Amino acid sequence: MDLGIKGRTAIVCAASKGLGKGVATALAQEGVNLFITARTKADIEATADEIRKATGVKVTAVAGDITTEEGRKQVLAACPNPDILINNAGGPPPGDFKDFTLDDWRKAVEWNMITPIALIKATVYGMMDRGFGRIVNITSQSVKAPIASLELSNGARTGLTGAIAVIARKAVRNNVTINNILPGPFDTDRLRGTSKKMAEARGVPVEQVAAERMKAVPAGRFGNTVEFGAATAFLCSQHAGFITGQNLLLDGGIFPGSM
Ligand code: NAP
Repeated sequence: MDLGIKGRTAIVCAASKGLGKGVATALAQEGVNLFITARTKADIEATADEIRKATGVKVTAVAGDITTEEGRKQVLAACPNPDILINNAGGPPPGDFKDFTLDDWRKAVEWNMITPIALIKATVYGMMDRGFGRIVNITSQSVKAPIASLELSNGARTGLTGAIAVIARKAVRNNVTINNILPGPFDTDRLRGTSKKMAEARGVPVEQVAAERMKAVPAGRFGNTVEFGAATAFLCSQHAGFITGQNLLLDGGIFPGSM
């Protein structure tokens, strides 16, 4: 299927690796020119180069921390009028409610709630004026079913979900949609890192922890970044103009509810 977005321009945040890179690659394969961000300059430049060579689209690497005002200004200065915005950043650390400080909560809200809100506010009205826009926030399965060790993430990402629910329904009149994608376990550096930490804490091999985690997924495997990118690219397509304010769970069947 031709997604009908060839020649469009996208900002993809936190895209040198993992889910963000998967989305950037899928959009580039559809002919979308990219502005991609990450904090580590060498990594984001290497990813930009890789995608450019593989697809022939224009890819601009913007090195900076998207959770800071400075980082957001940098990418918006490079690309003030994107047609597509993919909100993504690192997730907050695991832990326990009794140990989290108020500053931990403030940081989690800044990273996973305020940052996407700021980028949406800066871009959505221009998209509405131009009559096309697609915004996707990468959140987490924890919005649908809280994860015990990830209370910071549960809170901040659920806050974002509520915060965009009304603007998503206003913007759609002008062919601008805002949706959230809720990943379950995807095989990325982040997931491999958490498996390693769990294995060290229990004194068991990392392969054992990974196998146990996979067993909990009805699909019997972790998701991969190619399928994540493809699903996100569809939400960014011209065909998805009637889908807004939705939460698309990509979790291999983990969530046990019927809807
Ligand atoms: P990943 O493989 O570790 O990749 C993270 C990417 O984000 C890297 O390119 C990293 O580059 C960039 N990044 C991190 N913090 C950034 C910041 N402040 N500013 C700009 N770029 C930043 O992680 P992932 O698995 O793709 O996860 C992406 C998001 O999805 C996270 O919020 C994670 O919590 C969430 N998520 C992931 C899963 C999963 O199973 N993978 C499940 C649910 C939710 P630099 O380090 O160089 O900045």
